[in-house]
Amino acid sequence: MSIVRVALDVPIPELFDYSAEQALAPGTRVVVPFGSRTRVGVVVETVAESSIPLGRIRPITQVLTDTPSLAPDWIALARFTARYYQRPLGEVILNALPPRLRRPKLLAESGASPNGIALTETGASAPMRGTVRTSILATLRARQPQLRQHLEALGATGASVIRALLHDGLVAEVVMDESAQCELSTPAIIPSPPWDGPTLTDAQQSAVQAVDASRGAFNAHVLFGVTGSGKTEVYLHLARTTLARGESVLVLVPEISLTPQLEQIFISRFSKQAVAVMHSARAEGERASAWIAAQNGVSRLILGTRLAVFAPLQKIGLIIVDEEHDPSLKQQDGVRYSARDLAVFRAREAACPIVLGSATPSLETYSNACAGRYRLLRLPERARAGALLPTIRTVDMRTPSAMQADGLSPVAIAALGERLRRQEQSLVFLNRRGYAPVLGCSACGWVADCERCAAHLVVHLAERRLRCHHCGYGGGVPRACPSCGNVDLTPFGRGTQRLEVALQKLFPEARILRIDSDTTRARGRFTEMIESIHAGSVDILLGTQILAKGHDFPKLTLVVTLNTDAALMAADYRAPERLFAQLQQVAGRAGRASLPGEVLIQTRYPDHPLFRSLISGDYLGFADRQLAEREGAGFPPAISEAVLRAESLEIADAITHLGQAVQLAPQDDLITIYDPVPMSLARLAGWSRAHVLVQSPERRTLQAFLAEWSARLYAARSPRGVRWHIDVDPLEF
Ligand SMILES: [Zn+2]
Ligand SMILES: [Zn+2]
Repeated sequence: MSIVRVALDVPIPELFDYSAEQALAPGTRVVVPFGSRTRVGVVVETVAESSIPLGRIRPITQVLTDTPSLAPDWIALARFTARYYQRPLGEVILNALPPRLRRPKLLAESGASPNGIALTETGASAPMRGTVRTSILATLRARQPQLRQHLEALGATGASVIRALLHDGLVAEVVMDESAQCELSTPAIIPSPPWDGPTLTDAQQSAVQAVDASRGAFNAHVLFGVTGSGKTEVYLHLARTTLARGESVLVLVPEISLTPQLEQIFISRFSKQAVAVMHSARAEGERASAWIAAQNGVSRLILGTRLAVFAPLQKIGLIIVDEEHDPSLKQQDGVRYSARDLAVFRAREAACPIVLGSATPSLETYSNACAGRYRLLRLPERARAGALLPTIRTVDMRTPSAMQADGLSPVAIAALGERLRRQEQSLVFLNRRGYAPVLGCSACGWVADCERCAAHLVVHLAERRLRCHHCGYGGGVPRACPSCGNVDLTPFGRGTQRLEVALQKLFPEARILRIDSDTTRARGRFTEMIESIHAGSVDILLGTQILAKGHDFPKLTLVVTLNTDAALMAADYRAPERLFAQLQQVAGRAGRASLPGEVLIQTRYPDHPLFRSLISGDYLGFADRQLAEREGAGFPPAISEAVLRAESLEIADAITHLGQAVQLAPQDDLITIYDPVPMSLARLAGWSRAHVLVQSPERRTLQAFLAEWSARLYAARSPRGVRWHIDVDPLEF
């Protein structure tokens, strides 16, 4: 008998001792009793003795042998995550697993659908005809069953041949444990020749060479390239050499909507089974198989959103983080990790290169490049011959005549009309969905607020609803002011719906398509919309940031951006950096083919230095100034910071709790603790929220401080009705 320490998803930073009949490797999934329930846990280590008396140690209920145990380097990643982000190890480990592997039962019992193929009696002796059919039957006769996806990958017509074999009764579907396939197929992952990519430009070529030359050791590269400069092609070449070395590749992207097109590109260059996609919108079964395919080495290229940073890949030889500046690489609840920063940790542990790609590198990453820790690789030009960067200019909105037709300036209206005549596409960018952001009464000053958040309700006129964009709370549009009875309620400000109406009025003949998360909610709708844009059946696109990222629209030659000024004046020190990245990204949609592009930024601050840098294409100049400002003001990356947040029904309780927590903080001269204050969105979904900001000039000092402080906070009981967490390197204040 042995004693093992098991990680469980419970909000206590402890491991739990259980007895096991046989020795269990760290990383093994087990089912254990916990209180009166059973839970799934992961064995982290075996110990010689326990602090619990031997007679009271409970035995493990079941060892889940349907997946290989998690590798030591994966456990090391989880331990680092738990330590750095101050969360219980069990919470980190269990939440990194796909949902199906978190349930206390074997995969086959979780209602798995058939994923394997086996020969029937007829099939066992059927004649071999046709190349693909022969190799499928031969593979099955050598050993069966086989995973359907493996057999499908045996030839271009694999899927249809299998359908035919099923139809003829030569093979049958079975459910199999995918992990049982570990040692079976060693798939041919060498890219299917011919390698039909475009010829690399000189800049792409030298970027590829620089990363290739740095293999075999940890090296971080910042791939700094304007939109359209061909970063993806660099990724593909590097992935190819990595796979050819027998190593695996991890590719992280910020948005789910970016995965389908990248997936297509990677599959077309490599093979279908070599590439697995991981993101939260995939079905549970697919998530489990992608995980297992990575774990047993069948898929050696993982493409996914932030959660894929935990993909259990073997022999990682390259990590790529695309759009590394994007805030959605940071998890905003539970374990609040930065996938980019964990990716750097993984690359360091795996002693392999990492490529951080962006047209607007984050200031954190850029300052590492300035300090010589990361290497800056530039792709200064658009890769496609003849494709030019768009001309950007500001439109001064200070004059009374500048504002017409619901926020569009005469300059913008004329430019839109011109594109219509030339049969080119335009994009109007407004990062606010709904009809109007506020509904108010001009008689008494009443405004419609969310009952659960410190936020106004947004008017959605098409559905005649008011909706909270923070918590989803909704209600009908009142017929009269609930405060004074005035029947003439006014929607203030504008969102994409209102702008759509205005554009329709201005250009009755134009085909207008609004793309925001309201119109793309139905599955597959977004892809359909993108296709209709490509097909040329849209004249004016209107949308939020959902449109800004990654998509190529060859006929698009004009971008108009509205309502950018709020970000210039925001209190959040990261707002200018984000605004620059967003505008650069939107601007990058214009002129991707041979047609020249034009970008019009409507603003009341046309001479703002941010716009001047954007117009001259000088991101690094802007970044240098921002870094100097942050250094002067004592903001990251010049210093390190974390917040302790508390949430409660009443803001006073949250503040009181934080005050008590500060009393428990260890003393350190290099640590500054600020006073508890309400968060900028002080109420969210019924919870009042406050925080305490903690800063230090040294990351290591902050880490040591947080470890000690959180141990004391976990040991002290929180008062009822207050919940708290620590957020390290926070993005939200
Ligand atoms: Zn009123
Ligand atoms: Zn709300």
